[in-house]
Amino acid sequence: MRNLLTLTVFVFLFNTVVFAQGRFDDVEIIPHQLTDQVYMLEGAGGNIGLVIGEDGALIIDSQFGDLSAKIKETIITLNDGPINYVMNTHWHGDHTGGNENFAADGAIIVAHQNVKERMSKESVRGGQTNPPSPLAAQPVITFGEDLQLYHNGLKMMAMHVDNAHTDGDVMIFIPAANVLHMGDTFFHQRYPYIDLSSGGSVDGVIAAAKAALLIVDEETQIIPGHGPMATKADLENYLLFLNTMKSRVQEYTTVGRGLESIDKAKVLEGYEDWAWSFINEDRIIEIFYNSLTAR
Ligand SMILES: [Zn+2]
Repeated sequence: MRNLLTLTVFVFLFNTVVFAQGRFDDVEIIPHQLTDQVYMLEGAGGNIGLVIGEDGALIIDSQFGDLSAKIKETIITLNDGPINYVMNTHWHGDHTGGNENFAADGAIIVAHQNVKERMSKESVRGGQTNPPSPLAAQPVITFGEDLQLYHNGLKMMAMHVDNAHTDGDVMIFIPAANVLHMGDTFFHQRYPYIDLSSGGSVDGVIAAAKAALLIVDEETQIIPGHGPMATKADLENYLLFLNTMKSRVQEYTTVGRGLESIDKAKVLEGYEDWAWSFINEDRIIEIFYNSLTAR
């Protein structure tokens, strides 16, 4: 018995160590060029928007801290200047995890006020308690509704949307490049995560998609928080999904039926292939149900 226990502990530790070392080893940072100055960087975690020019570089979101070195290596091949700014679309770790590393190199972190507030406090998500982010990872410039940032001859317009994926989301539009980074208000070709414990809501995500559709045109290149580059038609399809799911789930919530009574296949019909590792079929239904029944 004791040997078995020792073996179990050993296997557990071994797996943990391998996991800790290996999680990002195989991740490649792939730059997708959108215009002469704007790129999307694909890696692990939220898609990064990159703006380069004479002033240096500005990034929108910073993925995980363990990827910062690879991200810098990729950026340096495109622009040899400093990384001056990091703008965050919201507070989640797969979008802000590199903040501290870029700040250490002199980047200024800019985000919505609620990103600062959430990063400054202990948080509980999925039953797990997380400590506050280090001060060096937190935004130093914050704003409430919107903010314009001028860099490399371009205007970056950050616009807050209320209680969507979280309570601190911004979408960032670059008019001269006709590029919109939607952060996690848009998951492309997969079920969205809506973080109800951070103030997110189904109605807020629907409102965010509608707000984005007022900004974009047929030529706009849309960077989703997760998934491949998108167009206005993709965003319209996403809004249709959100509205369809909402009305299907509401057939259960308005008559007070429980989550377990939901006919999964019927509710998800047409969107079965959007399931992915983080948000599977059960999870997306649970998110909609919980959001629509929240007071
Ligand atoms: Zn997120």
